[in-house]
Amino acid sequence: MVVVVNTASEKAIAEWRESLAEMAPHLEVRWWDDANLDPADVRYAVVWKPEHGRLAHFTGLKVLFSLGAGVDNIVADPAWPRHVPLVRMVPAEGPQRMGEYVTWAALSLQKDLPRIFRSREAKNWDSFATPTPATECTVGIMGLGAMGRRSADLLRGVGFPVIGWSRSRKALPFENFAGAEELDAFLARSRILVCLLPATPETTGILSAPLLVKLPRGAGLINSGRGAHQNLADIIAALDEGHLTGAVLDVFDPEPLPADSPAWIHPKIIVTSHIGAGPSTRECARYVATSISAFELREALYNLYDPTRGY
Ligand code: NAP
Repeated sequence: MVVVVNTASEKAIAEWRESLAEMAPHLEVRWWDDANLDPADVRYAVVWKPEHGRLAHFTGLKVLFSLGAGVDNIVADPAWPRHVPLVRMVPAEGPQRMGEYVTWAALSLQKDLPRIFRSREAKNWDSFATPTPATECTVGIMGLGAMGRRSADLLRGVGFPVIGWSRSRKALPFENFAGAEELDAFLARSRILVCLLPATPETTGILSAPLLVKLPRGAGLINSGRGAHQNLADIIAALDEGHLTGAVLDVFDPEPLPADSPAWIHPKIIVTSHIGAGPSTRECARYVATSISAFELREALYNLYDPTRGY
């Protein structure tokens, strides 16, 4: 049974081989660009951003795995194999790691980390009071899936009041808003806005001027969804004008973020390199091995892409 892994890193492919040899020894791990690979032999593929048209050659494919929790890079390929199940990468560790990232980012905005770094650079003893305690700084989370819900748990644990927004209302232990008609009320309450939405035609470009202006003046922004969600020029304009006080951006379009992007040097932006959830290769391999085992036993697969929702 051949499983092909779409990664440019030799270290990563070695880790996949080592992990799956232990967890699912019947699977033969092959590299995406292996010149000796016969595409017809591939039964399982683990991919992040496959070149358009390549997946269509895997005529014996049984299950397709996204290397990310989002599948936007895969379904953008007009020829992606729609007849096979597409599984999003959501190992248990992913939401936990994302929750840690979002909590760190919210505390960084609330404690003004860029100012702390500037003081350190200048060896300036800048003893300042944090404007508001976390308990008075409501965090609004857009997207209440696996990532958003775990982030809410951890944020609440350190004292941030949390509200959320998604397509449909949820029975959760915090106030949540649903649908386009409730978006403005949600934004008006969000001192820090967190984007954890999937990239779909409805959400593309959502973090742009018309939305940002609806946040309270002085709000902070965290985008750990997708680069396609944000209009970087609008975010920078809102920061320069003072409507936003800071932004932590983990995702960009394109990635890697080009060296000449103004985001790298903007004094109110903290750039991270798509590290929000980033489960380890071993965690991903365990998730893939478990899912393949379930598939081969004709059991249910979880975290499947739903074409009717678009994510
Ligand atoms: P998920 O479980 O599918 O949850 C998606 C959430 O977004 C759901 O609550 C859904 O609402 C909501 N949503 C979708 N479209 C919407 C719309 N048009 N309006 C309002 N809400 C909408 O996904 P997940 O596992 O939490 O992951 C979410 C996203 O996080 C991924 O797609 C990816 O973009 C991003 N991500 C980033 C990283 C990173 O390292 N930076 C890592 C993992 C994931 P309903 O529940 O009402 O349908």
